[in-house]
Amino acid sequence: LLKKFSAELEEEKASAIFAKDTEEFIASLPVSKSKYDSRQRPILIGGAMNSEIGVLVRALKNPVIYKQLNYIYIAGTYKDYPVVISRTEEFQTNAAATTALALVNFNPVAVINQGTSGGYISTLKPGDIIIGERSINTSAIKTEYRAKGAGIDFTQQLLLGDRVYNKDADKFEFCKEMTADSTLLKLAENISDFNVVKGTIGTADGWNNQIDYINFLNEKYGVVCEEMETNAVANICYNSGVPFIGIRVISNNITNDSTFQPQSAEVAQKFVLALVEKYIQEVLIK
Ligand code: SAH
Repeated sequence: LLKKFSAELEEEKASAIFAKDTEEFIASLPVSKSKYDSRQRPILIGGAMNSEIGVLVRALKNPVIYKQLNYIYIAGTYKDYPVVISRTEEFQTNAAATTALALVNFNPVAVINQGTSGGYISTLKPGDIIIGERSINTSAIKTEYRAKGAGIDFTQQLLLGDRVYNKDADKFEFCKEMTADSTLLKLAENISDFNVVKGTIGTADGWNNQIDYINFLNEKYGVVCEEMETNAVANICYNSGVPFIGIRVISNNITNDSTFQPQSAEVAQKFVLALVEKYIQEVLIK
């Protein structure tokens, strides 16, 4: 147990150093004074924290910073194609805001959101990749009436979904789940050398540590992992008809006692770089 604990500590220390390095690396980059101008529409990749974008920003050629309402974007090229990394910050509000600003200011051809997550199935280990076939907002619920003193029970619930723009009807409507872009999904499925599971990502402004509630969300909605951004980013992309996919790495899993392993964030970024390369070669420059 002691060995496990010190290994975790070492990992956390290494990750903190990496995140700090990334913060300093970003701070050292030139800040653009002009509007973003690109002949080709860029691919936008989101990650909430420095540890979740460190690998991505280091992979860019000629990185330049753009700031919008104090949010940070790093634009450059990858495999000679324009890519913009958005540090979305944590939680759904920031994820939605950074994405909306990016759609207006960078006009991306596609959006990938990625990062860490908590596993909902005991076979999922830190480092495993989740391809988000779809996402749901597990915090958008209406609970069944309970009288004073009847106790707390969130299992009697109706999933509300989000308000999403429907192009055909030209109005906003409720949408219970967001599905991934089929082209990005197919490409993601064909990436090898990773442990991959396809499924539903559950997004909420919260960290759920109740195993019974985790099992409930898994059984009721098929949620395989939880995190705080995917569905919000998907919502904004849906509103505008921009192709989207969410990719997550398992960084913790309370159903099999896996504590938070921040280093796992690198696996999601490596997977996404492989996906971006395929997308550029097989879709964008074809
Ligand atoms: N700083 C936090 C760790 C990150 S928490 C702490 O000290 O506890 C929030 C971020 O991690 C979010 O961006 C979310 O997307 C992701 N995340 C990873 N595992 C999660 C989980 N089990 N539940 C919710 N969010 C999780």
